[in-house]
Amino acid sequence: MLQLRPYQEIMVDGARMEFQRGIRRTCIVAPCGAGKTVIMADMASKARVMGNRTLFVVHRQELIRQSSKTFSRLGISHGIVAADYPMMPDEYIQVASIQTVVRRVNRVHAPTIIIIDEAHHSTAATWRKLMEAYPDAFVVGLTATPARMGGQGLGDIFESLIMGPTAKQLIAWGNLAPYKYFAPPVRADLADLKVLRYGDYDQKEVAMRMDRSEIIGDQIEQYQKLAPGAKAICYCASIAQSQHTAEMFRQAGIPALHIDGDTHRVAREAATEDFKTGRIRVLCNVDLISEGYDIADMDAVILARPTQSLTLYIQQAMRAMRQDPDNPEKVAVIIDAVGNVYRHGLPDDDREWSLESKKKKSGVKPEIPLKVCPQCYGAHKPGPVCEICGYRYPGEERAEPEQRAGELAEILELEKKRLRQEIGRARDVVTLEQIAMQRGYRPGWILKQCELKNIPLGGS
Ligand SMILES: [Zn+2]
Repeated sequence: MLQLRPYQEIMVDGARMEFQRGIRRTCIVAPCGAGKTVIMADMASKARVMGNRTLFVVHRQELIRQSSKTFSRLGISHGIVAADYPMMPDEYIQVASIQTVVRRVNRVHAPTIIIIDEAHHSTAATWRKLMEAYPDAFVVGLTATPARMGGQGLGDIFESLIMGPTAKQLIAWGNLAPYKYFAPPVRADLADLKVLRYGDYDQKEVAMRMDRSEIIGDQIEQYQKLAPGAKAICYCASIAQSQHTAEMFRQAGIPALHIDGDTHRVAREAATEDFKTGRIRVLCNVDLISEGYDIADMDAVILARPTQSLTLYIQQAMRAMRQDPDNPEKVAVIIDAVGNVYRHGLPDDDREWSLESKKKKSGVKPEIPLKVCPQCYGAHKPGPVCEICGYRYPGEERAEPEQRAGELAEILELEKKRLRQEIGRARDVVTLEQIAMQRGYRPGWILKQCELKNIPLGGS
Protein backbone atom coordinates (compact mmCIF):
# COMPACT_ATOMS: atom_id res chain seq x y z
CA MET A 1 0.00 0.00 0.00
CA LEU A 2 1.05 3.56 -0.51
CA GLN A 3 2.02 5.86 2.29
CA LEU A 4 -0.67 8.51 2.29
CA ARG A 5 -0.64 11.83 4.09
CA PRO A 6 -3.32 11.89 6.83
CA TYR A 7 -5.67 14.18 4.90
CA GLN A 8 -5.32 11.96 1.83
CA GLU A 9 -6.43 8.98 3.89
CA ILE A 10 -9.43 10.97 5.07
CA MET A 11 -10.44 11.61 1.45
CA VAL A 12 -10.07 7.96 0.44
CA ASP A 13 -12.06 6.88 3.52
CA GLY A 14 -14.65 9.51 2.65
CA ALA A 15 -15.26 7.93 -0.73
CA ARG A 16 -15.51 4.45 0.82
CA MET A 17 -18.02 5.69 3.39
CA GLU A 18 -20.14 7.24 0.65
CA PHE A 19 -20.24 3.90 -1.14
CA GLN A 20 -21.16 2.14 2.09
CA ARG A 21 -24.11 4.43 2.64
CA GLY A 22 -25.41 3.78 -0.82
CA ILE A 23 -24.01 6.73 -2.78
CA ARG A 24 -22.60 5.27 -5.99
CA ARG A 25 -21.13 8.37 -7.58
CA THR A 26 -19.12 10.83 -5.55
CA CYS A 27 -16.58 13.53 -6.37
CA ILE A 28 -13.53 14.43 -4.30
CA VAL A 29 -12.64 18.13 -4.38
CA ALA A 30 -8.93 18.74 -3.85
CA PRO A 31 -6.69 21.58 -5.04
CA CYS A 32 -3.60 20.97 -7.08
CA GLY A 33 -0.81 20.06 -4.68
CA ALA A 34 -3.06 17.69 -2.74
CA GLY A 35 -1.48 14.71 -4.49
CA LYS A 36 -4.48 13.58 -6.49
CA THR A 37 -2.58 10.95 -8.45
CA VAL A 38 -1.38 9.27 -5.28
CA ILE A 39 -4.94 9.21 -3.93
CA MET A 40 -6.22 7.65 -7.13
CA ALA A 41 -3.36 5.15 -7.24
CA ASP A 42 -4.10 4.16 -3.67
CA MET A 43 -7.79 3.59 -4.38
CA ALA A 44 -6.96 1.53 -7.45
CA SER A 45 -4.41 -0.65 -5.68
CA LYS A 46 -6.71 -1.22 -2.68
CA ALA A 47 -9.43 -2.29 -5.11
CA ARG A 48 -6.95 -4.63 -6.79
CA VAL A 49 -6.19 -6.34 -3.47
CA MET A 50 -9.92 -7.02 -3.07
CA GLY A 51 -9.98 -8.52 -6.55
CA ASN A 52 -11.82 -5.53 -8.04
CA ARG A 53 -11.11 -3.89 -11.37
CA THR A 54 -10.56 -0.14 -11.69
CA LEU A 55 -11.02 1.96 -14.79
CA PHE A 56 -9.10 5.19 -14.49
CA VAL A 57 -10.48 7.70 -16.99
CA VAL A 58 -8.67 10.81 -18.21
CA HIS A 59 -9.54 13.46 -20.76
CA ARG A 60 -6.29 14.33 -22.42
CA GLN A 61 -3.67 12.29 -24.22
CA GLU A 62 -0.91 13.87 -22.08
CA LEU A 63 -2.64 12.64 -18.96
CA ILE A 64 -2.49 9.04 -20.21
CA ARG A 65 1.25 9.12 -20.45
CA GLN A 66 1.70 11.00 -17.21
CA SER A 67 -0.69 8.87 -15.16
CA SER A 68 0.85 5.71 -16.55
CA LYS A 69 4.30 7.00 -15.64
CA THR A 70 3.18 7.80 -12.09
CA PHE A 71 1.47 4.41 -11.66
CA SER A 72 4.63 2.66 -12.86
CA ARG A 73 6.78 4.72 -10.51
CA LEU A 74 4.52 3.63 -7.64
CA GLY A 75 4.88 0.02 -8.77
CA ILE A 76 1.25 -0.32 -9.89
CA SER A 77 0.84 -2.64 -12.83
CA HIS A 78 -1.78 -1.43 -15.32
CA GLY A 79 -3.03 -1.57 -18.88
CA ILE A 80 -3.68 1.41 -21.15
CA VAL A 81 -6.79 2.00 -23.24
CA ALA A 82 -5.91 4.71 -25.73
CA ALA A 83 -5.15 5.09 -29.41
CA ASP A 84 -1.66 3.83 -30.31
CA TYR A 85 -1.38 1.61 -27.22
CA PRO A 86 -1.79 -2.18 -27.34
CA MET A 87 -4.61 -3.47 -25.13
CA MET A 88 -3.76 -5.50 -22.03
CA PRO A 89 -7.31 -6.39 -21.02
CA ASP A 90 -6.33 -8.72 -18.18
CA GLU A 91 -4.73 -6.00 -16.09
CA TYR A 92 -6.97 -5.15 -13.12
CA ILE A 93 -6.18 -1.45 -13.43
CA GLN A 94 -6.74 0.26 -16.76
CA VAL A 95 -5.70 3.82 -17.52
CA ALA A 96 -8.09 4.94 -20.23
CA SER A 97 -8.75 7.88 -22.47
CA ILE A 98 -12.45 8.67 -22.32
CA GLN A 99 -12.70 9.00 -26.09
CA THR A 100 -11.17 5.58 -26.68
CA VAL A 101 -12.82 3.63 -23.89
CA VAL A 102 -16.37 4.55 -24.91
CA ARG A 103 -15.58 3.02 -28.30
CA ARG A 104 -13.99 -0.12 -26.85
CA VAL A 105 -16.38 -0.99 -24.02
CA ASN A 106 -16.73 -4.56 -25.30
CA ARG A 107 -13.00 -5.10 -25.08
CA VAL A 108 -12.59 -3.86 -21.51
CA HIS A 109 -13.69 -5.94 -18.50
CA ALA A 110 -16.49 -4.26 -16.56
CA PRO A 111 -14.82 -2.27 -13.74
CA THR A 112 -16.01 -2.23 -10.13
CA ILE A 113 -14.71 1.30 -9.73
CA ILE A 114 -14.43 4.08 -12.26
CA ILE A 115 -12.14 6.95 -11.29
CA ILE A 116 -12.57 10.13 -13.32
CA ASP A 117 -9.61 12.49 -13.21
CA GLU A 118 -10.25 16.20 -13.83
CA ALA A 119 -13.92 15.41 -13.39
CA HIS A 120 -15.03 18.94 -14.33
CA HIS A 121 -14.43 17.95 -17.95
CA SER A 122 -16.97 15.15 -17.92
CA THR A 123 -19.78 16.07 -20.22
CA ALA A 124 -23.22 14.59 -19.96
CA ALA A 125 -22.88 12.80 -23.30
CA THR A 126 -19.60 10.93 -22.74
CA TRP A 127 -20.60 10.19 -19.19
CA ARG A 128 -23.89 8.66 -20.30
CA LYS A 129 -22.05 6.36 -22.67
CA LEU A 130 -19.72 5.18 -19.94
CA MET A 131 -22.64 4.76 -17.53
CA GLU A 132 -24.64 2.72 -20.02
CA ALA A 133 -21.63 0.50 -20.59
CA TYR A 134 -20.89 -0.09 -16.90
CA PRO A 135 -24.11 0.57 -14.98
CA ASP A 136 -22.95 -1.23 -11.83
CA ALA A 137 -19.67 0.60 -11.30
CA PHE A 138 -18.94 2.84 -8.34
CA VAL A 139 -17.68 6.20 -9.54
CA VAL A 140 -15.20 8.59 -7.91
CA GLY A 141 -14.37 11.88 -9.57
CA LEU A 142 -11.47 14.11 -8.66
CA THR A 143 -11.13 17.78 -9.41
CA ALA A 144 -9.90 21.05 -7.95
CA THR A 145 -12.91 22.90 -9.25
CA PRO A 146 -16.17 20.93 -9.49
CA ALA A 147 -17.82 23.24 -12.02
CA ARG A 148 -17.94 23.32 -15.77
CA MET A 149 -17.22 26.30 -17.99
CA GLY A 150 -20.12 28.67 -17.53
CA GLY A 151 -20.65 27.62 -13.93
CA GLN A 152 -22.80 24.48 -14.36
CA GLY A 153 -22.43 22.05 -11.48
CA LEU A 154 -21.67 18.36 -11.82
CA GLY A 155 -24.99 17.24 -10.35
CA ASP A 156 -25.90 15.29 -13.48
CA ILE A 157 -22.99 12.94 -12.81
CA PHE A 158 -22.28 12.91 -9.09
CA GLU A 159 -24.53 12.48 -6.07
CA SER A 160 -22.19 13.95 -3.48
CA LEU A 161 -19.03 16.01 -3.00
CA ILE A 162 -16.21 15.13 -0.60
CA MET A 163 -14.28 18.22 0.40
CA GLY A 164 -10.51 17.74 0.63
CA PRO A 165 -8.15 20.28 2.16
CA THR A 166 -8.29 23.87 0.96
CA ALA A 167 -5.46 25.59 -0.88
CA LYS A 168 -4.89 27.71 2.25
CA GLN A 169 -4.38 24.57 4.32
CA LEU A 170 -1.99 23.08 1.79
CA ILE A 171 0.05 26.29 1.89
CA ALA A 172 0.07 26.24 5.69
CA TRP A 173 1.19 22.61 5.74
CA GLY A 174 3.96 23.28 3.27
CA ASN A 175 2.47 21.21 0.45
CA LEU A 176 2.03 24.30 -1.72
CA ALA A 177 4.30 27.32 -1.90
CA PRO A 178 2.90 30.61 -0.62
CA TYR A 179 2.46 33.29 -3.24
CA LYS A 180 2.49 37.00 -3.93
CA TYR A 181 -0.23 38.19 -6.24
CA PHE A 182 0.21 41.38 -8.26
CA ALA A 183 -2.53 43.04 -10.25
CA PRO A 184 -1.05 46.15 -11.87
CA PRO A 185 -3.41 48.49 -13.70
CA VAL A 186 -4.61 46.98 -16.97
CA ARG A 187 -3.91 49.22 -19.92
CA ALA A 188 -5.81 47.06 -22.41
CA ASP A 189 -9.47 47.88 -22.81
CA LEU A 190 -11.13 44.73 -21.55
CA ALA A 191 -14.54 46.18 -20.83
CA ASP A 192 -17.52 44.84 -22.77
CA LEU A 193 -15.77 41.73 -24.02
CA LYS A 194 -18.13 39.36 -25.73
CA VAL A 195 -18.86 36.14 -23.83
CA LEU A 196 -19.44 33.19 -26.13
CA ARG A 197 -22.02 30.49 -25.62
CA TYR A 198 -19.64 28.04 -23.99
CA GLY A 199 -19.07 30.58 -21.24
CA ASP A 200 -15.74 32.30 -21.87
CA TYR A 201 -14.66 35.45 -23.68
CA ASP A 202 -14.23 35.51 -27.42
CA GLN A 203 -10.50 34.90 -27.50
CA LYS A 204 -10.10 36.52 -30.93
CA GLU A 205 -11.47 39.72 -29.50
CA VAL A 206 -9.29 39.37 -26.39
CA ALA A 207 -6.18 38.85 -28.50
CA MET A 208 -6.98 41.94 -30.56
CA ARG A 209 -6.95 44.05 -27.41
CA MET A 210 -3.99 42.32 -25.72
CA ASP A 211 -1.64 41.75 -28.64
CA ARG A 212 -0.11 45.23 -28.70
CA SER A 213 3.48 46.13 -28.11
CA GLU A 214 2.82 48.68 -25.35
CA ILE A 215 0.72 46.15 -23.42
CA ILE A 216 3.27 43.37 -23.83
CA GLY A 217 5.93 45.91 -22.88
CA ASP A 218 4.13 46.50 -19.58
CA GLN A 219 4.21 42.78 -18.87
CA ILE A 220 7.94 42.62 -19.49
CA GLU A 221 8.47 45.57 -17.20
CA GLN A 222 6.37 43.92 -14.48
CA TYR A 223 8.28 40.66 -14.86
CA GLN A 224 11.57 42.50 -14.52
CA LYS A 225 10.36 44.37 -11.48
CA LEU A 226 8.43 41.64 -9.66
CA ALA A 227 10.13 38.40 -10.66
CA PRO A 228 13.45 39.26 -12.30
CA GLY A 229 15.17 36.19 -13.73
CA ALA A 230 12.38 33.88 -12.57
CA LYS A 231 11.25 30.91 -14.60
CA ALA A 232 7.79 31.93 -15.72
CA ILE A 233 4.91 30.65 -17.83
CA CYS A 234 2.97 33.31 -19.71
CA TYR A 235 -0.64 32.47 -20.67
CA CYS A 236 -1.92 34.29 -23.77
CA ALA A 237 -5.18 34.47 -25.70
CA SER A 238 -3.85 33.66 -29.17
CA ILE A 239 -0.86 32.03 -30.79
CA ALA A 240 0.11 35.33 -32.41
CA GLN A 241 -0.03 37.15 -29.06
CA SER A 242 2.03 34.38 -27.49
CA GLN A 243 4.63 34.55 -30.29
CA HIS A 244 4.85 38.34 -30.07
CA THR A 245 5.24 38.18 -26.30
CA ALA A 246 8.11 35.67 -26.55
CA GLU A 247 9.75 37.80 -29.23
CA MET A 248 9.54 40.98 -27.16
CA PHE A 249 10.94 39.22 -24.10
CA ARG A 250 13.89 38.09 -26.22
CA GLN A 251 14.40 41.63 -27.50
CA ALA A 252 14.56 42.73 -23.87
CA GLY A 253 17.36 40.23 -23.32
CA ILE A 254 15.24 37.61 -21.52
CA PRO A 255 15.41 34.15 -23.11
CA ALA A 256 11.82 33.27 -24.02
CA LEU A 257 10.01 30.85 -26.33
CA HIS A 258 6.51 30.23 -27.62
CA ILE A 259 5.13 26.69 -27.84
CA ASP A 260 1.78 25.33 -29.01
CA GLY A 261 0.10 22.09 -30.03
CA ASP A 262 1.59 22.30 -33.52
CA THR A 263 5.15 22.78 -32.31
CA HIS A 264 7.04 19.67 -33.38
CA ARG A 265 7.40 17.15 -30.58
CA VAL A 266 11.17 17.35 -30.72
CA ALA A 267 11.15 21.16 -30.54
CA ARG A 268 8.68 21.03 -27.68
CA GLU A 269 10.80 18.58 -25.74
CA ALA A 270 13.85 20.76 -26.32
CA ALA A 271 11.94 23.80 -25.06
CA THR A 272 10.79 21.86 -22.00
CA GLU A 273 14.36 20.77 -21.31
CA ASP A 274 15.73 24.29 -21.76
CA PHE A 275 13.07 25.63 -19.42
CA LYS A 276 14.06 23.03 -16.86
CA THR A 277 17.73 23.98 -16.94
CA GLY A 278 16.90 27.68 -17.01
CA ARG A 279 18.30 28.36 -20.48
CA ILE A 280 14.77 29.50 -21.28
CA ARG A 281 13.26 31.80 -18.65
CA VAL A 282 9.83 32.59 -20.03
CA LEU A 283 7.64 30.06 -21.86
CA CYS A 284 4.67 31.60 -23.67
CA ASN A 285 1.64 29.55 -24.67
CA VAL A 286 -2.11 29.72 -25.09
CA ASP A 287 -3.47 26.77 -23.14
CA LEU A 288 -0.97 24.04 -23.93
CA ILE A 289 0.59 24.10 -20.47
CA SER A 290 -2.42 22.96 -18.49
CA GLU A 291 -3.56 19.87 -16.60
CA GLY A 292 -1.18 17.02 -17.02
CA TYR A 293 1.33 18.90 -19.11
CA ASP A 294 4.59 17.78 -17.60
CA ILE A 295 6.94 20.71 -17.16
CA ALA A 296 9.60 21.71 -14.66
CA ASP A 297 8.54 23.78 -11.69
CA MET A 298 8.48 27.52 -12.14
CA ASP A 299 8.52 30.51 -9.84
CA ALA A 300 6.12 32.80 -11.63
CA VAL A 301 3.15 32.95 -13.97
CA ILE A 302 2.02 35.85 -16.10
CA LEU A 303 -1.72 35.90 -16.80
CA ALA A 304 -2.08 37.70 -20.12
CA ARG A 305 -5.48 36.33 -20.98
CA PRO A 306 -8.66 37.32 -19.16
CA THR A 307 -10.99 34.42 -18.53
CA GLN A 308 -14.48 33.87 -17.15
CA SER A 309 -13.60 30.31 -16.26
CA LEU A 310 -12.79 29.88 -12.59
CA THR A 311 -11.29 26.48 -13.36
CA LEU A 312 -8.89 27.88 -15.94
CA TYR A 313 -8.03 30.82 -13.70
CA ILE A 314 -7.20 28.64 -10.71
CA GLN A 315 -5.24 26.22 -12.84
CA GLN A 316 -3.12 28.93 -14.43
CA ALA A 317 -2.68 31.12 -11.36
CA MET A 318 -1.71 28.19 -9.12
CA ARG A 319 0.65 26.60 -11.60
CA ALA A 320 3.66 28.27 -9.97
CA MET A 321 2.69 27.22 -6.45
CA ARG A 322 4.02 23.67 -6.57
CA GLN A 323 6.62 23.11 -3.90
CA ASP A 324 10.23 23.18 -4.95
CA PRO A 325 12.14 20.65 -2.81
CA ASP A 326 15.39 22.44 -3.58
CA ASN A 327 13.96 25.71 -2.40
CA PRO A 328 11.69 25.30 0.64
CA GLU A 329 11.55 29.08 1.01
CA LYS A 330 9.99 29.52 -2.43
CA VAL A 331 7.33 32.20 -2.82
CA ALA A 332 5.48 32.04 -6.12
CA VAL A 333 4.82 35.27 -8.01
CA ILE A 334 1.59 35.73 -9.93
CA ILE A 335 1.49 38.66 -12.32
CA ASP A 336 -2.11 39.25 -13.34
CA ALA A 337 -1.95 41.54 -16.36
CA VAL A 338 -5.66 41.24 -17.15
CA GLY A 339 -7.45 41.75 -13.84
CA ASN A 340 -8.56 38.13 -13.42
CA VAL A 341 -8.40 38.59 -9.65
CA TYR A 342 -11.33 41.03 -9.89
CA ARG A 343 -13.33 38.33 -11.70
CA HIS A 344 -12.54 35.42 -9.42
CA GLY A 345 -10.80 36.55 -6.23
CA LEU A 346 -7.47 35.21 -4.98
CA PRO A 347 -6.49 31.66 -5.98
CA ASP A 348 -6.62 30.31 -2.43
CA ASP A 349 -9.88 32.02 -1.44
CA ASP A 350 -12.20 29.56 0.27
CA ARG A 351 -14.96 28.73 -2.17
CA GLU A 352 -18.29 27.11 -1.61
CA TRP A 353 -18.83 24.33 -4.07
CA SER A 354 -22.07 22.65 -4.86
CA LEU A 355 -23.39 20.15 -7.36
CA GLU A 356 -26.02 22.67 -8.42
CA SER A 357 -25.46 25.02 -11.31
CA LYS A 358 -24.87 28.63 -10.36
CA LYS A 359 -27.84 30.71 -11.35
CA LYS A 360 -26.88 33.70 -13.43
CA LYS A 361 -27.81 36.82 -11.55
CA SER A 362 -28.56 39.60 -13.96
CA GLY A 363 -25.88 42.24 -13.78
CA VAL A 364 -25.13 41.73 -10.08
CA LYS A 365 -21.52 40.78 -9.52
CA PRO A 366 -20.71 38.94 -6.33
CA GLU A 367 -18.63 41.01 -3.97
CA ILE A 368 -15.02 39.78 -3.91
CA PRO A 369 -13.25 40.68 -0.67
CA LEU A 370 -10.05 42.09 -2.06
CA LYS A 371 -7.67 45.00 -1.87
CA VAL A 372 -5.10 46.03 -4.43
CA CYS A 373 -2.27 48.13 -3.02
CA PRO A 374 -1.68 51.49 -4.75
CA GLN A 375 2.02 51.25 -3.97
CA CYS A 376 3.05 47.73 -5.07
CA TYR A 377 -0.15 46.54 -6.84
CA GLY A 378 -0.17 43.53 -4.56
CA ALA A 379 -3.61 41.93 -4.30
CA HIS A 380 -4.55 40.74 -0.83
CA LYS A 381 -7.38 40.21 1.64
CA PRO A 382 -8.97 43.40 2.96
CA GLY A 383 -7.07 44.91 5.87
CA PRO A 384 -5.55 48.24 6.91
CA VAL A 385 -2.07 47.26 5.68
CA CYS A 386 -0.81 45.82 2.37
CA GLU A 387 0.24 42.27 3.12
CA ILE A 388 2.99 42.45 0.54
CA CYS A 389 4.79 45.76 0.99
CA GLY A 390 3.34 46.99 4.28
CA TYR A 391 1.71 50.07 2.82
CA ARG A 392 -0.79 51.49 5.31
CA TYR A 393 -4.12 52.50 3.78
CA PRO A 394 -4.92 56.05 4.89
CA GLY A 395 -7.78 56.55 7.32
CA GLU A 396 -7.97 52.90 8.36
CA GLU A 397 -7.41 52.15 11.99
CA ARG A 398 -5.68 49.12 13.31
CA ALA A 399 -8.59 46.80 13.65
CA GLU A 400 -9.25 43.37 14.92
CA PRO A 401 -8.83 41.61 11.57
CA GLU A 402 -5.19 42.58 11.58
CA GLN A 403 -4.75 41.08 15.00
CA ARG A 404 -6.40 37.90 13.85
CA ALA A 405 -4.18 37.85 10.77
CA GLY A 406 -1.27 38.15 13.18
CA GLU A 407 -2.47 35.18 15.19
CA LEU A 408 -2.96 33.15 12.04
CA ALA A 409 0.53 34.07 10.87
CA GLU A 410 1.86 32.88 14.21
CA ILE A 411 0.06 29.54 13.87
CA LEU A 412 1.43 29.18 10.37
CA GLU A 413 4.92 29.93 11.64
CA LEU A 414 4.57 27.27 14.32
CA GLU A 415 3.38 24.72 11.78
CA LYS A 416 6.28 25.59 9.49
CA LYS A 417 8.65 25.28 12.43
CA ARG A 418 7.23 21.87 13.26
CA LEU A 419 7.78 20.73 9.69
CA ARG A 420 11.34 22.06 9.75
CA GLN A 421 12.03 20.35 13.07
CA GLU A 422 10.79 17.07 11.71
CA ILE A 423 13.40 17.34 8.97
CA GLY A 424 15.98 18.45 11.52
CA ARG A 425 15.38 15.37 13.66
CA ALA A 426 15.62 12.92 10.77
CA ARG A 427 18.77 10.85 11.12
CA ASP A 428 18.33 8.11 8.56
CA VAL A 429 17.29 7.59 4.98
CA VAL A 430 14.04 5.81 5.87
CA THR A 431 12.78 8.74 7.94
CA LEU A 432 13.73 11.17 5.18
CA GLU A 433 11.96 8.99 2.66
CA GLN A 434 8.83 9.01 4.80
CA ILE A 435 8.93 12.80 5.07
CA ALA A 436 9.48 13.11 1.32
CA MET A 437 6.57 10.79 0.61
CA GLN A 438 4.21 12.63 2.98
CA ARG A 439 5.07 16.03 1.61
CA GLY A 440 5.50 15.07 -2.02
CA TYR A 441 9.22 15.93 -2.16
CA ARG A 442 11.32 14.40 -4.91
CA PRO A 443 14.16 11.87 -4.50
CA GLY A 444 16.60 14.73 -5.17
CA TRP A 445 15.52 16.31 -1.91
CA ILE A 446 16.37 13.13 0.03
CA LEU A 447 19.81 12.99 -1.60
CA LYS A 448 20.47 16.60 -0.70
CA GLN A 449 19.39 16.10 2.90
CA CYS A 450 21.60 13.01 3.20
CA GLU A 451 24.48 15.05 1.90
CA LEU A 452 23.79 17.90 4.34
CA LYS A 453 23.40 15.55 7.28
CA ASN A 454 26.24 13.24 6.31
CA ILE A 455 23.95 10.23 6.21
CA PRO A 456 25.36 7.34 4.19
CA LEU A 457 22.94 6.04 1.59
CA GLY A 458 23.78 2.40 2.25
CA GLY A 459 23.84 -0.51 -0.15
CA SER A 460 20.37 -0.83 -1.63
ZN1 LIG B 1 1.72 46.98 -1.28
